[in-house]
Amino acid sequence: MLVVMKAQATPEQIQAVCDAIAQLGFRAHPLPGAQRTAIGITGNQGEVERGNLEALPGVAEVIRVTKPYKLASRDVKEEDTVIRFAGTDAALGGNGLAAIAGPCSIESREQAFAIAEKIAAAGAQFFRGGAYKPRTSPYSFQGLGLDALKIMAEIRDQFGLRIVTEAIDSETLDLVAEWADVIQIGARNMQNFSLLKRAGRLRKPVLIKRGLSATLEEFLMAAEYVMSEGNYQVSLCERGVRTFSDHARNTLDLSVIPAIRRVSHLPILVDPSHGTGRRDSVLPMARAAVAAGADGILVEVHHQPEKALSDGPQSIYPDQFARMMDDLAQIAPVVGRRLARGIRVETPVAEHA
Ligand code: PEP
Ligand code: MN
Repeated sequence: MLVVMKAQATPEQIQAVCDAIAQLGFRAHPLPGAQRTAIGITGNQGEVERGNLEALPGVAEVIRVTKPYKLASRDVKEEDTVIRFAGTDAALGGNGLAAIAGPCSIESREQAFAIAEKIAAAGAQFFRGGAYKPRTSPYSFQGLGLDALKIMAEIRDQFGLRIVTEAIDSETLDLVAEWADVIQIGARNMQNFSLLKRAGRLRKPVLIKRGLSATLEEFLMAAEYVMSEGNYQVSLCERGVRTFSDHARNTLDLSVIPAIRRVSHLPILVDPSHGTGRRDSVLPMARAAVAAGADGILVEVHHQPEKALSDGPQSIYPDQFARMMDDLAQIAPVVGRRLARGIRVETPVAEHA
């Protein structure tokens, strides 16, 4: 259910409705919009008795949300969600297109800094790097763990880049939340519901990658798990799905972009690296993603991909990344967007907070 407040409803009236919802034993999720505030109700098994709520001051109407995902739905919030990063001009969602780039794994301080320097010079606002790697084989490189998180915090201090990195379980979730700016939930964990719920109890942006064979509804339900716990700073990332096609590692499903934008207000990014698995396919698919309306690109970059400990074949060289940024900057205006280039850090970067 959804309580739509009148445009002129006061903060006190909104609070009173939230209190009334809590008294009924449900959870209230006030979602302010440009025109009016809507309050999502979760925790109810069936229909909420709407009469009492409808009678409260400031309430315009109480409506049923028919989709299984509610807080992620455009029915509940019409305007696109924009996730901002305090003290900077970086954002996920909104008019600016975000570029998130970096190696699959942090392998050493030297490796990470060599790549970060190039990425910052090309104008990315976000640096990615795996500290905890969900590898198919237990014998493959598993990541440097906390040392990698510390290296990335140094990269934020030096270049201003905001840090995106994956948490693979509840233990690493707390560490990633402490050290990074965006918590990535990987494709293999997209339906790890206890992890999603725990991420929902944090107040840090979460980026959820699409599961290996997840439908649009399953993808949005993953976001719903996080949001149902009160963390609304969720963005999505298409990274390819499994199909019969064998010319690429995965099939990058760009048609999910307009499909998500139609039904959800959450930012949707695209990862052409995992989506194709091939260096030579990354640039064309990144261009296509922006043309199709993606809110940003997440891409793997390595200065020596032939030596990379993971995902070398799909990692592009720094100069290819710079070229990609130039191309995306040109394509963006065609679809009414602008590539966010270079990060402005307005306040000194805090100690990993
Ligand atoms: C990654 O981003 O390095 C990664 C492991 O991605 P995914 O979860 O999409 O496979
Ligand atoms: Mn990878």
